[in-house]
Amino acid sequence: MSNLSQTTFTLEDLRARAEGRGPIPAEVGLAVLGHPVEHSLSPAMQNAALEALGSKLRYAKIDCPPEQLAEAIDLARKAGFTGLNLTIPHKFEALNLCNELDDTARQLGAVNTLLFDGSRIVGFNTDGPGLVRAIREVFAFDLRDLRVMVLGAGGGAGSAAALQCALERCPRLVLVNRTEGKAHDVAAQAKKLLHTDRLEGPDDPVTVIPLEESALREQLGRTDLVINATSLGMKRTDPRLVPAALLTPDLMVYDMIYRPAVTRLLEDAQNANARTANGLSLLLHQGALSLEIWLNRPAPVDVMRSALQKAAA
Ligand code: NAP
Repeated sequence: MSNLSQTTFTLEDLRARAEGRGPIPAEVGLAVLGHPVEHSLSPAMQNAALEALGSKLRYAKIDCPPEQLAEAIDLARKAGFTGLNLTIPHKFEALNLCNELDDTARQLGAVNTLLFDGSRIVGFNTDGPGLVRAIREVFAFDLRDLRVMVLGAGGGAGSAAALQCALERCPRLVLVNRTEGKAHDVAAQAKKLLHTDRLEGPDDPVTVIPLEESALREQLGRTDLVINATSLGMKRTDPRLVPAALLTPDLMVYDMIYRPAVTRLLEDAQNANARTANGLSLLLHQGALSLEIWLNRPAPVDVMRSALQKAAA
């Protein structure tokens, strides 16, 4: 069963499983659907948890192209699955495929966890609440007490982070995105959650700035936590997102990227004596919250953390 972490199943495999045959083992009742999905560390983390809990259920990864999401969800339900995780690029499309949404999924406008409840599909979002837990774990601060800058606020992970900050009513929220228009769209959603339509200005709790040195410099002086939610930093050759000289010891810098474990941004922040953490804690806590939804019991977070650290090494 340990090779479930290495094996990537296909939609064809899921079709076969729904007919009671094929390579997906009968114990598999949970899976992550994504495209691509072969690099996902979720099977290693979730199967370690399921084993530790004495559950017979197992978790697999299934590659699902975007146009086949509806079919894949239907097949998993027919095959008797308990639920699914959804990752890139399915989190938005899934909103329309659920019979019911929890408050967070509705407010963040994205779904990363499905629970099959008879013929009903219930959608949840554990990315936002997972970020709250992650920040508390790595920095010992509550997100709601921090002035936050989100880099990549217009992307999938960045918009979820920004909207969770709005739900937490963070005292300041600065949104930055290469394509600035997307950050303005997210700012409008954040203001709806905050029930404020104040025009932008120095006192506005939500500010959009361009990804430019002078704007970053001005805002970083009034920021406690910088969250990188861009994909910049996954390659060692990627250019700097934030000039190193702008990073100061009073900042906390959280990079959602966890491979490499230390991105150039985190390296620069460490050299500036800022506190830093990578995205492994977010992966951990969103996964633990998903498991709690499926099994309705506390997740063995320490077991999951160890399995993740081993799989990511
Ligand atoms: P996405 O929806 O494709 O968003 C990508 C973001 O990166 C956008 O804001 C995009 O800006 C920005 N970006 C891409 N290339 C850039 C560049 N050269 N310069 C500046 N900005 C650039 O992807 P996603 O799903 O949100 O994922 C983003 C990152 O978060 C990835 O590294 C992913 O691995 C990580 N992540 C981690 C976790 C975790 O559990 N730790 C969970 C989810 C995601 P534009 O809008 O201008 O294109």
